[in-house]
Amino acid sequence: MSAPADRDPAGARPLGAPLRLIGLRKTFGSLVALDDVDLEVPRGRTTVLLGPSGSGKSTLLRCLNLLESPDAGQIDLGDGPVEVGGILPRRTVREIRSRSTMVFQQFNLFPHLTALGNVTLAPVESRGMSRADAEALGRDVLAKVGLAEKADAYPDRLSGGQQQRVAIARALAMDPDFLLFDEPTSALDPELAAEVVSVLADLAAEHRTLVVVTHSLAFARRVADQVVFLEDGKVLQDGPPEEFFESEDPRLRRFREVVGSV
Ligand code: ADP
Ligand code: MG
Repeated sequence: MSAPADRDPAGARPLGAPLRLIGLRKTFGSLVALDDVDLEVPRGRTTVLLGPSGSGKSTLLRCLNLLESPDAGQIDLGDGPVEVGGILPRRTVREIRSRSTMVFQQFNLFPHLTALGNVTLAPVESRGMSRADAEALGRDVLAKVGLAEKADAYPDRLSGGQQQRVAIARALAMDPDFLLFDEPTSALDPELAAEVVSVLADLAAEHRTLVVVTHSLAFARRVADQVVFLEDGKVLQDGPPEEFFESEDPRLRRFREVVGSV
């Protein structure tokens, strides 16, 4: 991979310093879910997290925006390392959380709100945006995920793929520094998963910073700029996708064989 420029080729988004995790540790009782993880996530790029079930992928993602409180470690979102272990001042939590948004496997849309209502809720409620501005923004981000004509539809009238695209639009409406996806296509049939992958590929092409947990090697191959492989709460491998796909490490080979065959 060539060295990241200060700006992406289109000049639209400044790339800036990478996000860094330093010595991130998370335990659940005696179980070590993240074992002093050090990781750099390049900005304006797509990082794919792979690893066996239970290896700590979701925990890593959740710690990145403090949905889960790490036991120890630091997070550097580009403006210097911040201690995130233990009990944190509410301001720190708010600041770190406001920099990213998470898209979940199960979409988590509000069933009593339309697509547009889902997308405009947070900008109005937590950003204090006027309803008119939020609606304009909401229509914009819905158009971006190919759902301009579904603005007034309720979630139960949308397919799973469409619901997930609304969830992505909702994340985009917050204009976060980085977007976190936890198995965004796992609840979908292949055909519907493909719509969602195509939206993710569009976002990647715009040089947004994406961190995506997935089991799809095809997705990693197509979209990842960096692949991180976790096992037992440790990073076994991180680097360009070729390194992951060509690695002779028996644990990576085995993973590729098992996951590639499903
Ligand atoms: P992955 O997403 O890679 O499948 P997770 O991050 O969900 O893995 O889990 C890592 C380990 O931490 C697993 O052993 C899991 O059982 C455990 N774990 C995750 N969340 C909790 C929790 N809230 N309480 C107890 N154990 C948990
Ligand atoms: Mg998980």
